[in-house]
Amino acid sequence: MVRLIDPRTGQVREVSDETYRRVWDTPEGGIAQRLSDESQTNRLWDNVDGAWTLPLPQATIPLYLHKVIFRCTACTFTGLGGDAVLKHLKAIGQNAEEHEGATLLPQIQQDGRVGLYCTGCGVLFSGRKGQGKKHLENVHQAVPLHEGARSVQMHRFSLVPPPTPVPSFVEARHG
Ligand SMILES: [Zn+2]
Ligand SMILES: [Zn+2]
Repeated sequence: MVRLIDPRTGQVREVSDETYRRVWDTPEGGIAQRLSDESQTNRLWDNVDGAWTLPLPQATIPLYLHKVIFRCTACTFTGLGGDAVLKHLKAIGQNAEEHEGATLLPQIQQDGRVGLYCTGCGVLFSGRKGQGKKHLENVHQAVPLHEGARSVQMHRFSLVPPPTPVPSFVEARHG
C-alpha cells in the first residue's frame, strides 16, 4: 500500500500499488509515501481539524507549514481564497432569505416512510430524528451567529497545537 497526500488539502488516502503506478506522475500522486516507510516522517497539528496529521514525509513539512487558509471567525468554515469567507457570509444571508417563512411539509419518502420536506431549499429530511427542525434552526441561527464575523488568515498546519483559545479568535470576538 502507498499513502497519497493531497498537496492542496493535506488529506491522506491509502491506495494500492497498482493505483499508485497509474497516478504517480499526476498532481494526484504528487506527494506519495510508502506505508512501510515511517522513517523520516513528522506529524503536524492540523489547525482546521484540530488533530494531528498522519506521519508526513520530512521533505514536505516546509510546504505544509507555509500553507495559509482563511477561516470564518464565527464558525469552522475555511477556504483557500481571500474572498472565500466573504462568499460564505453572503451565502448564509441568501440561505436565510430563501428560508424566510419556510416550513416542513410531510412527504412520502422512497422507502414509504413519511419524511419532511423543507419549503425553503427543497431538501427532504427523515421524519424521525428532528433533522428538518434542526436544519431550520441552524439556518436561522446562522445569521445572528455571524454578526460581526470576519475572515482571519491562519496557517493550516503547525508543529504544535496553538494555545487555547486561539489568540486571533479571541481578538475577533471582542473586537
Ligand atoms: Zn461562518
Ligand atoms: Zn431548507
